[in-house]
Amino acid sequence: MNFKDLKLANSILKAVELEGYKEPSPIQKEAIPHILNGKDILASAQTGTGKTAAFALPLINNLLNGDKHDKKIKVLVLTPTRELALQVRDNFRKYGINTNLKCSVIFGGVNQRSQVETLKRGVDILVATPGRLLDLMNQRRVDLRNVQSLVLDEADTMLDMGFIHDVKKIISRIPVERQTLLFSATIPTEIKHLAKELLKDPITIKLNNESLTVDKINQSVYFVDKINKAKLLLELLECNTLKSVLVFVRTKHGADKLSEVLEKNGVKNGVIHGNKSQNARISALKNFKSGRHKVLVATDIAARGIDIIELSHVINYEMPEKAETYVHRIGRTGRAGLDGNAISLCNVEEKKVLRQIEISIKQTIAIIAEHSYPAQQAITTNSHYNNRRNKGRNYSHKNYKNYYKRNVSKLAT
Ligand code: AMP
Repeated sequence: MNFKDLKLANSILKAVELEGYKEPSPIQKEAIPHILNGKDILASAQTGTGKTAAFALPLINNLLNGDKHDKKIKVLVLTPTRELALQVRDNFRKYGINTNLKCSVIFGGVNQRSQVETLKRGVDILVATPGRLLDLMNQRRVDLRNVQSLVLDEADTMLDMGFIHDVKKIISRIPVERQTLLFSATIPTEIKHLAKELLKDPITIKLNNESLTVDKINQSVYFVDKINKAKLLLELLECNTLKSVLVFVRTKHGADKLSEVLEKNGVKNGVIHGNKSQNARISALKNFKSGRHKVLVATDIAARGIDIIELSHVINYEMPEKAETYVHRIGRTGRAGLDGNAISLCNVEEKKVLRQIEISIKQTIAIIAEHSYPAQQAITTNSHYNNRRNKGRNYSHKNYKNYYKRNVSKLAT
């Protein structure tokens, strides 16, 4: 099945193509047709499954089909955290890029003035955290009388964070005649009760929560000083199990520099970034795909949409700025049911983003503590996840080499 089969408007299909999505994820295949039909949904899906697009795409489509393009709030999405709210808003904007629908976000912890101004100017899709939304409702600064569709995103987290009373108050003040979509990573009894209370004749979607990317990928991180990153990379590349490696850097200049260092050290590689001509990019990709070059150095933008099925490893030579980019990057490996491997080289300045990534993907990234170039300043992680759940789970470089071997033998069978 591809996105066209889902009967989405062309403007949405184009946006999806721009994002580089090749086919709908399982949750998208299941949920989109029902949401387009106006059904209520109870879906268990966690971050990384493509759940945001699973509700955003059909909701945008429904708005395009509706007759009201009046900048009144017709879709309301409630999320537990401001980070998620921003992420959901960004996704709506990306998927709605070819439409004139307006999507905005409101959350607490910041001055409300600009949010009120935005609301005044008119919004079709509002993403909000419950506390601030309720505040603004009480001040009569937000009008929810036209809401047609309500999404509760990460409903279990909203329960855990004690937002459920606010959520119920909000819901009691929006139209009863509406579509309600409840997304939750887990469906404990309280969520079942909530679903019974809020949803009308819902379609229940329960998938194996198969992640689009991150769950199937062996992820590891090496703490290393910036100055030693190239040396560590060269050492890693000596490992035979690293067969085809996409190396991510942040800048075009950085990509060229690294490519040169690799070349000087006998590592055949190609490089793609925005300043390279289309022909140069095509030939770099061709050499990489054919196995002539073991390594392709790339910037994020240049690597968008490239599909290399038999990629054994992604290496984050520099950590991405955003957790979402990390998911995009590592999603290049582990495709078509193959095991994938993602290695991050993280220096002290990048530890913060590593933590954000772990929170966002709800996973711990294994630390390879013993290697030839341990960071002087950052040998241990203050990562929330590693500290709480991964105590003592440090791997040595040697063990990791064996670990590669095991995985590659799996790949070969
Ligand atoms: P989510 O589960 O909504 O947090 O999405 C996780 C990541 O998957 C995001 O980076 C999305 O951009 C990406 N994504 C969503 N749908 C697809 C798809 N059909 N194919 C590839 N990536 C996708």
